[in-house]
Amino acid sequence: MITFLSGGTGTPKLLRGVRSLLPDKEITVVVNTAEDLWISGNHLSPDLDTVMYLFAGLADTTTWWGITGDSFTTHDALNAWGGGELLRIGDRDRAVHILRGEMLRKGMRLTDAAGLISRRMGVAATLLPMADTPVSTLVDTDLGLLHFQDYWVKHRGAPRVKEVVRRFAEPPKATPEVIRAIGKADGVVIGPSNPVTSISPILECAGVVEALSRKFVVAVSPFIGDRPVSGPAGELMRAWGSEPTSQGIFDLYKDILDVFVQDIRDPVKVAGAVRLDTLMRDKPASEALAREILKLVQGKTS
Ligand code: GDP
Repeated sequence: MITFLSGGTGTPKLLRGVRSLLPDKEITVVVNTAEDLWISGNHLSPDLDTVMYLFAGLADTTTWWGITGDSFTTHDALNAWGGGELLRIGDRDRAVHILRGEMLRKGMRLTDAAGLISRRMGVAATLLPMADTPVSTLVDTDLGLLHFQDYWVKHRGAPRVKEVVRRFAEPPKATPEVIRAIGKADGVVIGPSNPVTSISPILECAGVVEALSRKFVVAVSPFIGDRPVSGPAGELMRAWGSEPTSQGIFDLYKDILDVFVQDIRDPVKVAGAVRLDTLMRDKPASEALAREILKLVQGKTS
């Protein structure tokens, strides 16, 4: 069994390839929830939703957002009547947010709600939110303190980021399910997700780093040169006090890593890194990278 740590784009692309090589039931994904928010009264968990839709065969694998072919009747009506909903939420996607919101309001743990909804969708992989208590990532910018989604979606990543702030009512603890999933894994793969908004929130959950320190851990860099393959990770790494390169990523993870993978095109040389083609432009490219990553994990454990 292999456990992955995931955000909502880079690692799901890798998981798309892994699914061609391993049965879903042998895959466990610990998912970032620090981008979760309540929107129009319902519970949006962008990374969890994307990973769940991937395993349910519903993901939009061009945008890595929402359900493929979804309609937007509710979103359009809300906005026509003054709702001002910024994120474009599809109707079927919203149904998931309504279901999960109701479950959480009734006192269900996020882990149980995620498990129940994914089973109902026919997902055979184990999908685990990193924690059951809320965590948010905010950015302090020249426009003031913004929720990460406001910064990225409303302001299109334009404001200068001075600081990244994690906010919570109680310090997040990894769930017992997450600790068990790491403990019994043959290896753990940190996919090429945003180190600041997706992977660090998972590593910050109490118990995760300790559990990983006993495991064979492979991480894939989301950077080539001084920029990420996509998204705002460069600006966020700078604000985080890290170099926005693969070296900066390696420095963040080095205490828990066994193997660091960087792209064959990356001009930044990280000592000891394994070089692979990490650009997952399509499904075959995801499968080719997944095959090499699985070889690294299985080679170490066999
Ligand atoms: P988010 O939750 O939507 O921000 O998604 P993630 O955190 O999972 O992934 C975002 C990161 O994925 C970005 O930093 C990108 O650089 C990285 N990424 C996206 N596609 C690829 C790819 O094909 N290869 C690599 N190496 N990184 C990628």
